[in-house]
Amino acid sequence: MPEKELDFRSDTVTRPTPEMREAMARAEVGDDVLGDDPTVIRLQERVAEVLGKEAAVYVPSGTMSNLIGVRIHCKPGDEMICEEGCHIFNYEQAGYAQLSGIAARPVEGRLGVLQLEQLEGLIRPDNTHLVRTRLVCLENTHNRGGGTIQPYETVEAICDWAHAAGLRTHLDGARLWHAAAATGIEARQWARHFDTVSVCFSKGLGAPVGSALTGSKELIAEAVRHRKVLGGGMRQSGVIAAAALYAMEHHIERLADDHANARRLAEGIAQIDGLAIQGEMPPTNLLFFRVEAALGTAADFAERIRQRGLLMLATAPTTIRAVTHLDVDANDVERAIKILREVASA
Ligand SMILES: *Cc1c(COP(=O)(O)O)cnc(C)c1O
Repeated sequence: MPEKELDFRSDTVTRPTPEMREAMARAEVGDDVLGDDPTVIRLQERVAEVLGKEAAVYVPSGTMSNLIGVRIHCKPGDEMICEEGCHIFNYEQAGYAQLSGIAARPVEGRLGVLQLEQLEGLIRPDNTHLVRTRLVCLENTHNRGGGTIQPYETVEAICDWAHAAGLRTHLDGARLWHAAAATGIEARQWARHFDTVSVCFSKGLGAPVGSALTGSKELIAEAVRHRKVLGGGMRQSGVIAAAALYAMEHHIERLADDHANARRLAEGIAQIDGLAIQGEMPPTNLLFFRVEAALGTAADFAERIRQRGLLMLATAPTTIRAVTHLDVDANDVERAIKILREVASA
């Protein structure tokens, strides 16, 4: 039997487990646009409870969840402050601008992490020439920063400052679960500082589809309207919501394993001539490493390891991303290190 392909490109590549498929097959469903899919209702209640919010709405993707989150806080001509490398600013086609008429004010953090001092002074004065500063968006963990955690004290300080200034706050918490697992600070504790929080089920939690936006009853009622106009109203979506519910019950505790696997992978890579880990040891499940010129471009190197059955993502001319998740275990990490070492020394 050929050895299984080792896919470290992303934590979105996981396939539903047999138990998860079983939960999907058994799901009770209804028409969620009419508000009567019992599984979707249960998922929304569960997510709201875990994040300590009044309400939640299930949406097809993290992109839609962020798009709606930003849009319910801002009018056309308003501005959001965000980190320069964040997902909303870089990887969502500037939907906030295309579809909502909102401007972005990006601020460069260190590996995605912002400090309050960088934001103070950015609120624009009331003047007909200017957009209106309305919202602060944070991302935790930070994807492009390398799974970095925006430290709790800075989250608290930034959100307190924003609220005192009359701004709203939104968290892109696609991997908030990982920040909670790595710090021991519960998701609801992180979430309480934000007016809206978006979380993904289809990344580290291993569900095939879906995200949720959480917040007050009032904001989420508004979010449901926006989901409909964006084409995100779904019918018997309990079939996929059941997978997310299953993931919340069974796949959160195990995230610590992914973090340990990422650290082990980083230790292995650090020993290989020609490869260098970016930043410090991976704080969570994402890591980036540099490929030195002698080994060719990152894309060449990624192609050579792919031929050996190891998939990683070239994200820049000299940079490769590797992500640990539900479908790679400690043995797979050892095999990956072996392939990287052999290809680097060939
Ligand atoms: C993946 C991701 C998203 C978007 O989620 P999709 O479901 O792929 O649309 C948003 N933010 C972050 C930080 C992500 O990693």
